Amino acid sequence: MEDRTYTADAEPGQTATVAGWAHEIRDLGGIAFLIVRDTTGKIQVKFEKDEMDDDLVETGMGVNRESVVKVTGDVEEEERAPTGVEIVPESVEVVADADPELPLDPSGKVDADLSTRLDNRTLDLRKEETKAIFEIRAEVLRSVREAFRDLGSTEINTPKIVATGTEGGTELFPITYFGQEAFMNQSPQLFKQLMVGSGLERVFEIGPIFRAEEHNTPRHLNEATSIDFESAFFDHEDAMDACETVVKAAYEGVAENCRDELEALGYEDFEAPEGDFPRLTYEEAIERINATGELDEQLVWGDDLPTEGEKALGDDVGSHYFITDWPSEIKPFYIKDHDDDEQLSTGFDLMHPNMELVSGGQREHRYDHLVEGFEQQGLDPDAFEYYTKMFKYGMPPHAGWGLGGERLVMTMLGLENIREAVLFPRDRQRLSP
Ligand code: ATP
Ligand code: MG
Repeated sequence: MEDRTYTADAEPGQTATVAGWAHEIRDLGGIAFLIVRDTTGKIQVKFEKDEMDDDLVETGMGVNRESVVKVTGDVEEEERAPTGVEIVPESVEVVADADPELPLDPSGKVDADLSTRLDNRTLDLRKEETKAIFEIRAEVLRSVREAFRDLGSTEINTPKIVATGTEGGTELFPITYFGQEAFMNQSPQLFKQLMVGSGLERVFEIGPIFRAEEHNTPRHLNEATSIDFESAFFDHEDAMDACETVVKAAYEGVAENCRDELEALGYEDFEAPEGDFPRLTYEEAIERINATGELDEQLVWGDDLPTEGEKALGDDVGSHYFITDWPSEIKPFYIKDHDDDEQLSTGFDLMHPNMELVSGGQREHRYDHLVEGFEQQGLDPDAFEYYTKMFKYGMPPHAGWGLGGERLVMTMLGLENIREAVLFPRDRQRLSP
């Protein structure tokens, strides 16, 4: 819109046109205020009733809250105004009227439950705190991309409609593809691996993954954003190093570039994690969990870590940490075992004290072992021929990982529910908006 001034840029002495939403109307009798809000902040518009045109005052005072308005006038210094300046209006135009009955109060004076907020995200994101979460999410993605580029990796995009799943059959969403069965992709795993054997060698992808999770939980979505990395000639240790770099870069980006947003969310001393993330073996992890005495039953070798176990260990460690050397049988077929011990996989998880953030590992790049792995996990290697075939034509050793984008934002900001970090979450009950 021509000649529009953002509220944050309005300077005393200027004649400015601001455009935004009617945040609040305060009528004090002889004097009244209309607070206009835009993406940069708010500004006070002052109406001195006796000195101003009646029509102008009537329009200004008659505006329904959250209507879109355009105000032109002189910007003046005013100590008592919330931002130190105010506009004395020459004209007020209601550009788009808002219904006086709002489903949600963007001024935040009336609390709304999460479900109401998700049903009315447009209004919800007019609130400073909610907007801050999504500005921070955008900064996380920006800094993660930059970190990947610094690591010399190329951004790729792989198909989300696929013929086969990779992460377990029960979590697949089937769809019909021109009369043929197809699925929504659970992970870019196989595609990113195919690319490390290409001329690209080191790749990353930020894109949706689809999981038909059985239950609603505060940390699972049915459509999530996966931050994936894969590199030729990397082993699992190299992959963990890259993972640590990328996660720290996300925190550093937010600490540096989101001060206002952090303040809006009430963080006074937000800091990027310092020092190396501890690396515990799976064996050490179950011993430490057992030692906390938090679980009713002791864990034994081969058990997957239950949620309460992860919590107990997270409290014990108190920072981000890796769990390495998982039993091969509980990691997927594409993860390589240790050369000197077939029972041990090179798979690793990066944990935030509250939950899993990343799974990764070195991959099986030897054709015969790979096909054997499929059979051992009860998968038909023929269905994956498009993938296995490429391992016959020079597939380098490689490693990588997948990081849950929403879990990263959620744990970084201490959000109680992962849905807070998604504009329009998909869960068992929620298919629209
Ligand atoms: P969990 O055990 O927590 O359900 P997972 O081991 O099944 O996760 P992976 O297949 O290892 O998940 O996926 C890699 C990462 O992607 C996870 O560590 C997590 O951060 C994220 N992720 C996976 N599934 C979901 C989901 N349903 N909702 C949100 N994030 C997810
Ligand atoms: Mg995992």
